[in-house]
Amino acid sequence: MKFGFHGKRYLAAILGAALFLSGPACGISHAAETDAAAQKMPYGAEDTPVVIVIDPGHGGENLGAEYEDYTEKDMTLAVAEAMKEELEKYEGVTVYLTRTGDEDLSLDERCAYAESVDADFLFCLHFNMSEQHTLFGAECWVSAFGENYSKGYGFASIEIGMLQEMGLFSRGIKTRLNDKGTDYYGILRHSVERSVPCVLIEHCHLDQAHDQPFYDHDEKLRAFGILDATAAAKYFGLRSETLGVDYSGWLKEEVAVPTTAVSPDRSEPDVCIIDVTEQNTENGEITVELSAADYDSGMLYYTYSYDNGAHFSELQPWPDASSDTIRFVMQVPPRVLPQIVVNAYNGYDLYTASNMVSLPSMDYKTEEELAAMEAVESLSGDVADGETFLPDGGATVQDGITVHDVTAETAGEPADGQPSLTGFLTVSLLCVLLLAAMVLSLTLILGGRKRRRRRRKKSVRRGRQDFDR
Ligand SMILES: [Zn+2]
Repeated sequence: MKFGFHGKRYLAAILGAALFLSGPACGISHAAETDAAAQKMPYGAEDTPVVIVIDPGHGGENLGAEYEDYTEKDMTLAVAEAMKEELEKYEGVTVYLTRTGDEDLSLDERCAYAESVDADFLFCLHFNMSEQHTLFGAECWVSAFGENYSKGYGFASIEIGMLQEMGLFSRGIKTRLNDKGTDYYGILRHSVERSVPCVLIEHCHLDQAHDQPFYDHDEKLRAFGILDATAAAKYFGLRSETLGVDYSGWLKEEVAVPTTAVSPDRSEPDVCIIDVTEQNTENGEITVELSAADYDSGMLYYTYSYDNGAHFSELQPWPDASSDTIRFVMQVPPRVLPQIVVNAYNGYDLYTASNMVSLPSMDYKTEEELAAMEAVESLSGDVADGETFLPDGGATVQDGITVHDVTAETAGEPADGQPSLTGFLTVSLLCVLLLAAMVLSLTLILGGRKRRRRRRKKSVRRGRQDFDR
């Protein structure tokens, strides 16, 4: 008996489900070569092709997120075109775009289109932006209900894994409900109404330096499209002779179909405690041990402050999702009383503030201060004793630069040695010249007097002569 395409997909799903139930939670494997059934009955064959609809988010008047030179509606279209082009290299797949130009479609129009072509999946492509431009990373939103949840989550786990491999930070796979208790995102809500499995992919944040290297070039947007296509090919177990890949044996994570809505996390992290394990008074580095946990949505970021929460650092990615306790090193400037607090954020960007740890102030010199001291030192060599230095061993701030008495100790030493010797020689030479000049002038004066005396005698004699005349 010949299996149709969908039949084979279900076979793989059953196999995956069996693995899921009997073993570890994650049933993902790369067992293409070892899967004998898949080798006998290749995917993407004759009869029913997989129908994929790609929805480039926004369009027309609806620009989506805008930041600097980036406009979401253009970026999503570029990614969608690349995704379609890549997917069409696979066998047994038909790909449609909800829009191919700059059109403004309603969310339901997009879902209605997917339904009209009998789509197996609707992939909604987006880029994110946060109000304060602080968040970074990729995330997937899925419906909170039934098969839409399990299929959405099944694909999203492949997608997010690949985005992480690309180097992006994962903000997770999440659901969100509105006040009525239905899906918050319209595209997910309408796709549930029309029974089209759907995922909303927020590739990354287009307003964030962390993520910018991933979208700052057309080729990088293409790379997102190729990644999305590959994730879809893995999800559907497609193969491509053109690309020389076969995902027909790809065992995706089987996600149980929930019987009730998968609620989003609405509470702050359960725990956030800090302890200072090291204070380096030589360079101001403080090692903090942070224990934080959220049993619903996990930890995403943390941010720290040394002034009891008046100012915080940028968001730092939680380095290890499997660990509740992490260590990090923070820099505290000199001559302040450190009052350390940390905010730890969960998967829904809600945070819990830690306890506060007070530490003694540190009197080390910053790199800027050391550089300033060096500059003053070299200057003092030239100016010699024109400069006054602090006598009491303290430090004062002059125009924001702290000058320490160390300068006074070092200023007079090696730099002054040579100039004083030269000075001594110069003064000695001047003295010799002065003495010589004095001797010379004394000689001249004495000589001049004798001549005058002689002349006077002559003239007296002559006068007498005249008179006698
Ligand atoms: Zn968007």
